[in-house]
Amino acid sequence: MRSSTSDAHAPAALDAARAALRQARSVVALSGAGISAESGIPTFRDALTGLWSRFDPADLASEEGFRAHPQRVWDWYAERREGVRRAEPNAAHRALAEFEQRHPGTLRVVTQNVDDLHQRAGSRDVVRLHGDILQDRWLDACPRRPACRAADAGPARPPRCAHCGNLVRPGVVWFGERLPESALTTAQRLASRCDAMLVVGTSGAVWPAAGLAGLARRAGASVVIVNPAASEIDDAATHLLRGAAAAVLPQLLAAA
Ligand code: NAD
Repeated sequence: MRSSTSDAHAPAALDAARAALRQARSVVALSGAGISAESGIPTFRDALTGLWSRFDPADLASEEGFRAHPQRVWDWYAERREGVRRAEPNAAHRALAEFEQRHPGTLRVVTQNVDDLHQRAGSRDVVRLHGDILQDRWLDACPRRPACRAADAGPARPPRCAHCGNLVRPGVVWFGERLPESALTTAQRLASRCDAMLVVGTSGAVWPAAGLAGLARRAGASVVIVNPAASEIDDAATHLLRGAAAAVLPQLLAAA
C-alpha cells in the first residue's frame, strides 16, 4: 500500500518517510541523474539540448553511434566530462554521505550516475551501475601482445592506438550494453535484503536499474521516492515525496 503522494515540504509526509528510514537497519539509496542536477550536471534529457538537440540519444550513447561518428560522440562526452570535473557535490550528496558516516554499515549508495559526486561527498563503496564517465577504455579487445597501451593513444579525437587503430571510448554503459555484472549482482542483493530504499532523481526509464525499486518493495522494504516529477516507478513507492533532492534529502536524513 502506498502511504502518500505528497509535496515534500508537507511535514507529515516527510515525518512518515523519515520514520521508515529511521526504523531500517539496512538502507539502499538508488540515485539517478536528478540528484546531480542541482550541481549543474544536466539529466539525460537536458544533456540533449542546445547543440546536441538534433541528435538521437541512441546515436550519442551507443556503440553503433560511436562507430559511425566517433568524433561527434567523443566531443559530446568531452563536454560532459568537463561539466562533471567543474561540478561540486550538492546538499543531497552530502546528506547521504553524512547519514552513512553517522550510521556505519547501514546505508549503501547504488547509482546510475556516471559522475563522481557521491564519492567526492564522502560516500564509500558506491555501487556504480553505469560506469564512470571520467575513465577511458578501449573500444575493442586488442588482439596484439602486448595489448594496446594508453600511451599509444595520440591527440586525435578520439585517441587511437598507433599500432592497430583501436579507438579510446568513455568507460560508461551505453544503450544495448550489459551492466558490469558484479555491480548489478551487488545491487540486486542489496535491494532484495534492505529494509528501506531511498530512490532519488531517477526517471525509472532505464532498465535493469529501474527494476531495483520494485525488487526492494516486493521483498518487503519501504520505498521512499524523491523526485519533483512523476517517474515510471512511482508504483513501487510506499512514500512519494515531490521535491528537489538538495532541498528534501537534508531534511529527510538530518535527524534520522
Ligand atoms: P533521467 O535523466 O532519465 O531522469 C532524471 C530524473 O531526475 C527525472 O525523473 C527528473 O524528474 C528528476 N530530477 C530532475 N531534477 C531533480 C532534482 N533537483 N531532484 C531530484 N530529482 C530530479 O536520469 P536516470 O533515471 O538516472 O537515467 C538516465 C541515464 O543517464 C542513466 O543511465 C545515467 O547513467 C545517465 N546520466 C547520468 C548523469 C550523471 O552521472 N550525473 C547525467 C545524465 C545522464
